[in-house]
Parts: sequence; structure tokens; C-alpha cells
Amino acid sequence: MSSSEDMKRAIQRAREAFQCGTTLSIDFRKRQLKALKRMYEENEAAFCSALAQDLKKPKQEAILLELNLLKDDITYILSRMDDWIKPEKIAPTIMTMFDQPLVYHDPYGVVLVLGAWNYPVQLALLPVSGAIAAGNCVIIKPSEVSPATAETIAKLLPKYLDKECYHVICGGIPETTELLKERFDYIFYTGSTAVGKIVRDAANKNLTPVTLELGGKSPVYIDDSVDMEVAVRRILWGKCINLGQTCIAPDYILCSKQLQDKFVEVARRVLEEWYGTNPKASPDLCRVINEKHVDRLSEYLKEGTVAVGGEVDREQLYIAPTILTDVSPKSKVMTDEIFGPILPIISVESAYEAISFINARDAPLTCYVFSTSSKQQQTFAQQVLSGSMCFNDCVVHFSIHDLPFGGIGNSGMGAYHGKASFDSFTHNKACLIRNYNKVAEMIGKMRYPPYSDTNTKR
Ligand code: NAD
Repeated sequence: MSSSEDMKRAIQRAREAFQCGTTLSIDFRKRQLKALKRMYEENEAAFCSALAQDLKKPKQEAILLELNLLKDDITYILSRMDDWIKPEKIAPTIMTMFDQPLVYHDPYGVVLVLGAWNYPVQLALLPVSGAIAAGNCVIIKPSEVSPATAETIAKLLPKYLDKECYHVICGGIPETTELLKERFDYIFYTGSTAVGKIVRDAANKNLTPVTLELGGKSPVYIDDSVDMEVAVRRILWGKCINLGQTCIAPDYILCSKQLQDKFVEVARRVLEEWYGTNPKASPDLCRVINEKHVDRLSEYLKEGTVAVGGEVDREQLYIAPTILTDVSPKSKVMTDEIFGPILPIISVESAYEAISFINARDAPLTCYVFSTSSKQQQTFAQQVLSGSMCFNDCVVHFSIHDLPFGGIGNSGMGAYHGKASFDSFTHNKACLIRNYNKVAEMIGKMRYPPYSDTNTKR
């Protein structure tokens, strides 16, 4: 746990380092990014072990969905950041033909990054590479709910990154509350919508800009044009990674009654093929983060017919991948974000009904549509308001650097990944370099008093 003094000292040191201009050097930023990448490469085993302790995360998921993503993001940023940082020349108009309008890409200063527990390495550190590339100093607060990972980050990061510019603060809600009383130049928060509102309230005190990466219920619509075998595998993979504790996990399915029966039949077979007849014994399934969440999720199982799965072992923090049918849209499983391995199916008769269902609720972080009809795809793209949309697969859009990732409404504000991360942590400072050209001054003279009507005539 970091004390109040630790936090204040860390912020003070970061502020002084920023004011000295340490992070303005592009070379410095690149060295820090390379060191951060080296931290992932040299400590793969330590990170995997922490993730196994916190979530029983399989090594393959830890590498694919946390460490590789972080490394690839840095490689991508390093290959493009020179272009992103360069002041951008704006084409002159007739009024500014002798001038140079420019946009400078300035860092904000000292930024706060608050991570969440479900992908605790990735969510605490992916925003950090964008913040470093943009030239900021960073205070990082990993989630206390995944303590082994928080400790690993706190132990390793100072060994690789500049000790004045970058600091890790450890602690829970009291420490975060304390941190949020301080002034930051930008706050980047990942977590629940409820806490997102607390963060925004705290930021308002200093009019600090924020990115809020929040949650929500990401729907899946399936029509009868798809290859069900492939669709089921893609949907179940998206649901089962991290045992459903993924912000963009498919939350519920909307499809016709006939497709529902087919989905359940294929899903039962696929789950057995992946995890065996006793999925609890499979090394490829994570665990629920804690008992509180097992209890919350267990309640949802009472709200429908368990078509597949349904097993709960509170002591082992285990809930089997479960498909629920006969669920009321008003039940808690259909109003709360599930954030676990339970997948309810709601019957709808048409794409139109599915769109109405989705749009009657909070805008989701992602909307998934399984359909080969481009007309159908276009209809969803135009009519559904969501943070992102992915056709015919789940989650994979997250890994495309050039796709900005973020929510809308209750699922968040702002976006990051690749260039969008750099942009999030950058203030675009408009700048005009004027000239002393005699002709330009002759034309420009009309703005000076004494005013006359002929001067304002067009
Ligand atoms: P969490 O409990 O780890 O909280 C996230 C951060 O908020 C932590 O650093 C924690 O210390 C802080 N915090 C928690 N309660 C607080 C309070 N009362 N006051 C001040 N700070 C507080 O994570 P969580 O909120 O359980 O995360 C799960 C949610 O996050 C889900 O809704 C999920 O969809 C969402 N999420 C979103 C994304 C995304 O990229 N959009 C990614 C992962 C998770």
C-alpha cells in the first residue's frame, strides 16, 4: 500500500520532471518505450505467475491477451511516433498564404492511469505506452482486486523506467479516493460505469480531461445466413476467455427460436471438445476473481433454464460456461453486465426486433453481428449506437492497432489503442506563425480603425 505521503511525493517528482522538460525529448520517450517492452520480454514468467495467482489465467491467455498485445502496441507506436509527434502543417488559405498555421502535439503533463482487475497487466499498462509516446509523466494505479499483478508491476516497473517520470501507486478504494483529490493533467480510467462517474466528478474539480473505459452489455445478433459451427466457436471463445470477465465479452444472444436450438446443440458439443466432460478440471479455464462475484453470478443462474453448464463451486471460485434460455428481458441477468461465463439467449424474430431491443438499452461497448448479408451488416452499422462493432467474430477487433477502442454513453468516453492512445494523451495546440509581408499587411490593414462600411463589404 502506498501512503498519502508516497502519493504526494510521486506526483511532485513527476511534476518537477515534466517541468524540467525531460519527456520532451523524443529520444527519451523511445528509450522508455523500449525499456517497457524489455520489461515484458524479460519477465514473462513473473507476469504469467501473477496472473495465474490472481485469476488462474492460463499461460496462453496471459501471453496472447496481455503480454503480446502490450509488446505489439509498443512496436507499432515506435514505428510511427516520429510522424505523430511532428508539428502538423495546415494548408494556408488566401488570408494566410504568407503565414504558417500549425498544430503542435503537446503532452498534457502528469497523467493518472487507473487500471482494472480483469486484464490487470494490459489494462494498467496499455494506456501507459501512449502516454509515454506523447511525452507525459505517468502515475499508474493498478487494481487492488488483482494484488499479485499489482505487486509485480510495482516491483518491476521502476527497474526499467525513469524513476522521476513514472511511478506506481498501490492501494484500494481509500488510496484511489486520496489520489483523485490531487490535480492531474489527464485521467485515464478503466473499470465500472459507477466508479467512472466518481472519477469524472473528481476530475471536474480541476476541469481535468478524462478517458473513461467502462463496461456494459455487448449483444450478439445471429441470423440464419451464418455457418453455425464457426459462429458458435467464435462466440464461445469470446465468452470463455478470462471466464467471461472481459469488458467486450459477448453478454447475451439475440436470435430466432430455431437458431437458439441449433446454437445450444453446437455449443454443448464445442464446450465438451474444448474443456472435456468436467470443465472444472480443465487447465484452460480461468477462475472468477472472488467469492463476491461468484455469489452475484450464481443468482443469475436462477433466472432462466440452464441449457448447458450451470455448475458452481464457490470455494474454487468456479462457474461452468453456461447457456441460459427462457430468460426475461427484465431479469437481473439481462439488466446487469454479466461479466462471467453465463450466456443468456433471448428470442427475436427479426433483425429489426434485435436492433430495437439493443437501442432500448444503454449503448453497449461493442455490438456483435453474425450475418453474411452486407445489407444486414450495414443496417446494424447505421442503426445501432455502440462503442464499436464487430461482424462475424468476437473480441478480435480489440487487437487492431488502428481501430480506436472505446465506449459511448454509459460504456465510456474517449478511445485508445495505437494512434488513438497517442491522441488521447496529446493536446493539439493550434498555432499561427504570422509574417511581415508588405502586401499581406496592405490587405490586412482593413481590420484596423477607423472602421468604415466599405471595409466589411464582401
Ligand atoms: P476494479 O474494482 O479493479 O476498479 C477499477 C479501478 O477503480 C481500480 O483502480 C480501483 O482502485 C478503482 N476504484 C474502485 N472503486 C472505487 C471507488 N469507489 N472510488 C474510487 N476508485 C475506485 O474494476 P471493476 O470496476 O470491477 O472493473 C470491472 C468493470 O470494468 C466492468 O464493468 C468492465 O466491463 C469494465 N472494464 C472496461 C474495460 C474497457 O476497456 N472499457 C476493460 C476492462 C473492464
